[in-house]
Amino acid sequence: MLFEDDPPPKLVGIARLAASSDLLEAKRQVQYLELATRRFIGRGSGRMQDIWTINPYRGCEYGCKYCYARYAHEFMELRDPELFEHKIFAKQFQAFAFRAEVRRLKPGDTIWIGTATDPYQPAERRFQITRQILEVFAGERGLDLGITTKSDLVARDAVLMARIAEKNKIRVHVTITTLDDRLARLIEPRAPRPALRLAAVSKLTEAGVPVSVLAHPVMPLINDSEASLDAVCAAGARNGASSFSAAPLFLKPCSAQVFLPFLEERFPHLVRRYRERFEKSAFLKGHYPEMIAERVERIRARHGIGKSRPPEWPLPSTFFDGQLELFPSLSKGPRPESSSPAGTLQRKVNRL
Ligand code: SF4
Repeated sequence: MLFEDDPPPKLVGIARLAASSDLLEAKRQVQYLELATRRFIGRGSGRMQDIWTINPYRGCEYGCKYCYARYAHEFMELRDPELFEHKIFAKQFQAFAFRAEVRRLKPGDTIWIGTATDPYQPAERRFQITRQILEVFAGERGLDLGITTKSDLVARDAVLMARIAEKNKIRVHVTITTLDDRLARLIEPRAPRPALRLAAVSKLTEAGVPVSVLAHPVMPLINDSEASLDAVCAAGARNGASSFSAAPLFLKPCSAQVFLPFLEERFPHLVRRYRERFEKSAFLKGHYPEMIAERVERIRARHGIGKSRPPEWPLPSTFFDGQLELFPSLSKGPRPESSSPAGTLQRKVNRL
């Protein structure tokens, strides 16, 4: 168990399960915990409601500064957004139970793996949950699978994915926001280098697995120049990717709490402009998204490369249950810990 004593009695649902998690392994900066899981396959909402989602892990060690998925830890009452990259929950996987869930899918259903975590982050080397999921899908037919990752580990499963592709549709979406190693290290501190991701694109496409390259998110005055996006698209195309997509950054409260302090430290000259642009809405509106869409169209045409299949970026706001408030605490610093059981839990976790 994560705690010697029982979880605080008022915690319910996923927060209670998380508080009861067993520690699997601890590294210097990261702890892996095992999370009991009743269902692996979830339903999207809003315009994503036709899409099924699978997230083999909760949390992600890569620690991207713009990561929108940090909200996932809030459901477990882990409200410090940094915990998302330090407490990684591996979901308990049982092939027979998962197979029963898969059998309830219908031919043509779309399943997206990695909507709130990277399914090939370092935890996957140890626990191989994503691989076990794919092994089940290899026995199915007529499904439409999408996988999103920044990890070169994805190439490990190229042969398995090619087998899935014989009877299903499958596409891997590899995110590459920049080819500049230094910038990538700043904004995606523990993710594999861009060159390693491109090598994975090459291995997957050589095995016959269709790949899209995503340059999401496009961050104003950081990675949004036509030259930078063009270089990513060109490198993807050279390595066999058949589609390319890029769309502007959005900042939900959980990501703004990490991204804006990061800007202050590394790009202080941009802070005022970002605050002005994002203070009324988590999504950029008006001329900028239109300009980026036109830029991306030009780049695609230049390289003769297609558009990614849906689901497209950005995700609709309805996807972020519990994240609809806008920037409630940007000027107030981190949220205060409450004296509630959840606050007690937070303090215990922070001490670990
Ligand atoms: S790889 Fe994806 S899930 Fe992981 S930290 Fe980066 S944006 Fe978040």
